[in-house]
Amino acid sequence: MSPQKPTILVTGGAGYIGSHAVLALVQAGYQVVILDNLVYGHQDLVEQVLQVELIKGDIDDRSLLDHLFQTHNIEAVMHFCAYAYVGESVTNPAKYYRNNVVSTLTLLEAMLSASIKKFVFSSTCATYGVPQFIPLTEEHPQNPINPYGATKLMVERILSDFDVAYGLKSVCFRYFNAAGADPNGLLGEDHNPETHLIPLVLQTALGKRESISVFGTDYPTPDGTCIRDYIHVCDLADAHILGLEYLLQNGNSEVFNLGNGNGFSVKEVISAAEEITGINIPIQECDRRPGDPPFLIGSSEKARKILNWQPQYPGIQDIVTHAWNWHQKRHK
Ligand code: UDP
Repeated sequence: MSPQKPTILVTGGAGYIGSHAVLALVQAGYQVVILDNLVYGHQDLVEQVLQVELIKGDIDDRSLLDHLFQTHNIEAVMHFCAYAYVGESVTNPAKYYRNNVVSTLTLLEAMLSASIKKFVFSSTCATYGVPQFIPLTEEHPQNPINPYGATKLMVERILSDFDVAYGLKSVCFRYFNAAGADPNGLLGEDHNPETHLIPLVLQTALGKRESISVFGTDYPTPDGTCIRDYIHVCDLADAHILGLEYLLQNGNSEVFNLGNGNGFSVKEVISAAEEITGINIPIQECDRRPGDPPFLIGSSEKARKILNWQPQYPGIQDIVTHAWNWHQKRHK
């Protein structure tokens, strides 16, 4: 019999990316405990699909964390919970610095008190700011242009300092545009409010919205709309397992981009959705959304090389098809 795999705490495990990571962990044989305040997370998915222990609470609740670490034999932490609305981070930065930075500091301090020194962190390509070159590599300068990106960069910096001072080892993943859903339709994206392109396009196909707004048609791109590197949420989840296993094998702290290295424009995404759904999706051409760079494409060569990460669903068709299956089920 193979030895039992360790127990992993997943903060934000009831959310979009966190829940897919929990499913991948469970399928890989790990024990999982979720800590989630359920502000944006979905209790029904944890109970019905993931079926792991859910602790309802905030990561800034130090006594809750201390109790959790005393009563569970946690080997490593995957930290997904964060506020992630870029626009809101501009209008209410205090909320973002408090939750994404200060609360994370509380979590890290509680981990150190419990001698837990392995941490997988959800960072973002928003830490780079406006690209100076494409594809973005991990060496690209980090000059975030909104508070959301700044909070993630601050945590990256804290993690680097905590490694030097306390020996806390971390893997930071800088995601490009997370999209798609579990191919079996068990999990998917369900944000409220929703601001992301693919779910909004699919809600339009379902008739929940009259049209999809296209933010800017005068960008210096072939069709004038923004280009993004969409990465399937299950490929992100797989990378988290590989990053965790790298740390469990005593790997050094590292930072990895996670993207496909392929860009799709807003109009290309809408066309793919029309093809997959067979539904005409009305568009409304609007002004640019402030803070949107014309294109963001990432190089993930480092993750491929060091973690041996291979995205299973690099095409936009799979991403939109899986998202569509989920949306039809969840939002009918
Ligand atoms: N976008 C759009 N209409 C929408 C939502 C998004 O045209 O209703 C565009 C947005 O300007 C960006 C791309 O779609 O170029 C992806 O945006 P999303 O919010 O999904 O992710 P982000 O790139 O902001 O992380």
